[in-house]
Amino acid sequence: MNLDLLRKKQGFICDMDGVIYHGDHLLPGAQAFVEWLKEENKKFLFLTNSSEKSPRELKEKLDRLGIQVEATHFYTSALATASFLASQRPNGSAYVIGEAGLINALYETGFSMNEVNPDYVVVGESRSYSYEKIERAVRLVRNGAKLIGANPDLTDKLGRDFAPATGALIAPIELASGTKAYFVGKPNPIMMRHGRKLLACEREDTAIVGDRMDTDIIAGIHSDIDTVLVLSGVTSKEDLKHFAYHPRYILSGVGDIPE
Ligand SMILES: [Mg+2]
Repeated sequence: MNLDLLRKKQGFICDMDGVIYHGDHLLPGAQAFVEWLKEENKKFLFLTNSSEKSPRELKEKLDRLGIQVEATHFYTSALATASFLASQRPNGSAYVIGEAGLINALYETGFSMNEVNPDYVVVGESRSYSYEKIERAVRLVRNGAKLIGANPDLTDKLGRDFAPATGALIAPIELASGTKAYFVGKPNPIMMRHGRKLLACEREDTAIVGDRMDTDIIAGIHSDIDTVLVLSGVTSKEDLKHFAYHPRYILSGVGDIPE
């Protein structure tokens, strides 16, 4: 494995949870990796499937953990969803079950909120999920609104526990409306392509770094970007035999990347 080729790349698209931090704990080597990105003038983007937080909130989170990067270095499934929907239906409308990160991203692309006859029902992680909202979403989808999930993740890891995430929250709406949702976040390569566009970096000159085979690595492969699996998150070396594809590089953590 020749890390020199990886180190020479100009653009890095990095997942965050399991790569930079675990919940509220910084992972070993993460700080050195981000310092290296900055010192080497690399282009980099932190990509997360979470739709809950805005880039500014993510910046504040990394600040608290001791890593300083501008808010423009973050790209979320909320931003990808908003940009995808705006390209499909400029100035469209949506009924949203989700948090501020998702709602604000939609507003910023020119969408309006509509509880009566929206173009889309958009679902992201939410703590204010209710029977009433499911009921409304089902009615709107049955009346013709398109059903969109910000990401397909079934669970979020909260320390040792698992919390239901977007995929689990949208399932009752899919079942009761008889409609399958379209999911924008990883592993949909849309998210990776948007990220690469933002980086303004050639495909050959970009690498994706992540801890999940079924989202990060497969999205990189579908986008034809070199993939780096770090074993600091959910995937262990033994898990690799269950996948038909493999990453280009396997590292214990991002701390292995700087020289
Ligand atoms: Mg991850």
